[in-house]
Amino acid sequence: MNEFRTGLGWDNHRIAAGPALILGGVTIPSEFGLEGHSDADVLTHAITDAILGAAALGDIGMHFPDSDPRWKGADSLQFLKHALDLARQAGFELVNVDSTVILERPRLKDYRGAIRETLAATLGLPVDRVSVKFKTAERVGPVGEGKSAEAQAVVTLATRR
Ligand code: MG
Repeated sequence: MNEFRTGLGWDNHRIAAGPALILGGVTIPSEFGLEGHSDADVLTHAITDAILGAAALGDIGMHFPDSDPRWKGADSLQFLKHALDLARQAGFELVNVDSTVILERPRLKDYRGAIRETLAATLGLPVDRVSVKFKTAERVGPVGEGKSAEAQAVVTLATRR
């Protein structure tokens, strides 16, 4: 029987005028974006950490330190691909991804399809195994006040047999 491992990921980034808003590798039209050393793709970072976590391979900051000039402005989908490669080398295959983006605005529902397709293509999964949910923070706390965005992710890995 296959063995299954669950991994949890969480991330947040500060909102700022200037940078692009990139979620799951998709650029969302918006008057503000997210600040970070890489492209600040908060959703992709959470999923990357969930994959690393399920395989007990550390965290995103260990593999891609924000002090490393190689990752300045980096496309975070390459972090995701690298985490999946590491999990595969450790003997795992990705089963599914579930995730939530918590952001007050803009409304994201029109971008769900594009985000799921981009993540699924990057992960080599059918789209029906990649879930992306959107919530606001009901105008409460730093996310609700429009100061930051958060993302959470859970993944399941199975041993290859
Ligand atoms: Mg991050």
